[in-house]
Amino acid sequence: MLGLMQDWPLLVSKILDHAAINHPEQEIVTRTTEGPIQRYTYKDLHSRARQMAKRLEMAGVKLGDRIATCAWNNARHMEVWYGVMGMGAICHTVNPRLFPEQIEYIINHAEDSYVFVDLTFVPVFEAIAKDLPKVKGFVIMTDAAHMPDTKLRDVICYEDWLAEADDDYTWPTFDENTAAGLCYTSGTTGNPKGVLYSHRSNVLHALLANQADTLGLCASDVILPVVPMFHANAWAIAFGAPAAGAKLVMPGPKMDGESIYQLLHEEGVTVSAAVPTVWLMLLGYLEDQGKELPLLNYVVIGGSACPPSMIEAFETKYGVQVFHAWGMTEMSPIGTLGRLKPKHESMSLSDQIALKSKQGRAPFTVEMKIVDDEGNEQPRDGVAFGHLVVRGPAVSKSYLKGEGGEILDADGWFDTGDVATIDADGYMQITDRAKDVIKSGGEWISTIEIENIAVGHPGVAEAAVIGLPHPKWDERPLLIVVAKDGTSPSGKDILAYLEGKIAKWWMPNDVAFVDEIPHTATGKIQKMDLRAKFKDHQLPND
Ligand code: ADP
Repeated sequence: MLGLMQDWPLLVSKILDHAAINHPEQEIVTRTTEGPIQRYTYKDLHSRARQMAKRLEMAGVKLGDRIATCAWNNARHMEVWYGVMGMGAICHTVNPRLFPEQIEYIINHAEDSYVFVDLTFVPVFEAIAKDLPKVKGFVIMTDAAHMPDTKLRDVICYEDWLAEADDDYTWPTFDENTAAGLCYTSGTTGNPKGVLYSHRSNVLHALLANQADTLGLCASDVILPVVPMFHANAWAIAFGAPAAGAKLVMPGPKMDGESIYQLLHEEGVTVSAAVPTVWLMLLGYLEDQGKELPLLNYVVIGGSACPPSMIEAFETKYGVQVFHAWGMTEMSPIGTLGRLKPKHESMSLSDQIALKSKQGRAPFTVEMKIVDDEGNEQPRDGVAFGHLVVRGPAVSKSYLKGEGGEILDADGWFDTGDVATIDADGYMQITDRAKDVIKSGGEWISTIEIENIAVGHPGVAEAAVIGLPHPKWDERPLLIVVAKDGTSPSGKDILAYLEGKIAKWWMPNDVAFVDEIPHTATGKIQKMDLRAKFKDHQLPND
């Protein structure tokens, strides 16, 4: 017998309808690419997104067509986002930090018919437009007064184009499993692969994100997503904020400490989310300028491991709670978030920080477990390591056009490529990417844990650990360090600092100093490059 409840497809247009009906005056504040701060409301966004859908329809865009954006977090990006998805086309967010050849590859692979380009990225497309045969037009996301002098072919001015339609448009209804968004994983090896979100997965994921123990957004929140919309849906915030009716503050192109501080301070931001490098810049600015953050309740830190020293700085110096989160593009992206349970409130600060350094617990609809090389589940005891596998209604089941073949096992589990522990309370801790873990004498050494501790040394700005071949132990760790400006720590100093904080056999065999550590397009340490750079490095005799 089937249930007798209404057939109400989970479509993302419903999220924006909800925001416009229930929170019409709630603000969306943008630092525009042109410079000034722009303000409007969910009611305005709702109107302009429908106008966009109508304009796209006039241009011949149909259900299932792919439309690319290459843009910062701003109001126009939200209009395209909801306009495209709302009409049943697919919004393909392009990460501008990819190499031009990769951008060309993914736009051709996705067969995008229009590309919405923020002013900053016009030069990127001037260089590759001739190799994008399927693209009919490049819509520059500005008004006539700010149109650049460009030789880009088929160029369109966003505001003039949009003005050719009105907002008299009703969202169509279709199957909730229809594709809504497309985001390529940066793929450290091989070509990027397309993760194709559906309306259903996006709506369910927005509900997941808004659970009180996850992002927990509500109508009295003011949220600043520093994490870009092209980085896996701005970690659900592009859907979760309107669903909750939260005020949205969009940072546009400026992510330096001063610019972020200004928005946090002037807009009364209560919640923000970003990768650790962004927070490092903000903390540096606060320290230099002697500024405080009285209104900010909590920050969500993820994308790569958040060092305990960063949690401590936020919580003890600025009274801002830190929630460490983990996820991946294939998971929409939230997988875990590290809020404490009531029984942890009485723990000492240092124990709390240690627990908060773990990547956190799975919200409802995410299932996860750790398995050994043969696929046998490992205990949830916080000690056993294993391959982290996941499943859920907002987790990928394959990549666009079947690239990469089958990605689920017989029981529907997706291998994240991460190695982790899970404790009895459900807190998961990433110890490494499977390909980065160091295998020494048959045992595994966690590079992330050593890096996390090393950055607590006052002379270390950034640290990366890689394994180098070793005749006796197979592999041994090399610690690579960028020294903090104005300091010159010695390798010996840093090793002495690590002593007692990690197992003896985890101690790096050597320390190398570099001016800069290379990063991927989503801000992760590029360990492949480091391994290539240091492949002939001689470890001292032990
Ligand atoms: P890409 O692979 O395109 O760079 P993703 O954002 O999908 O981008 O990367 C997901 C991976 O990032 C995870 O599998 C994990 O290795 C890493 N990651 C994400 N959040 C964290 C975190 N809090 N701690 C450690 N690693 C993380």
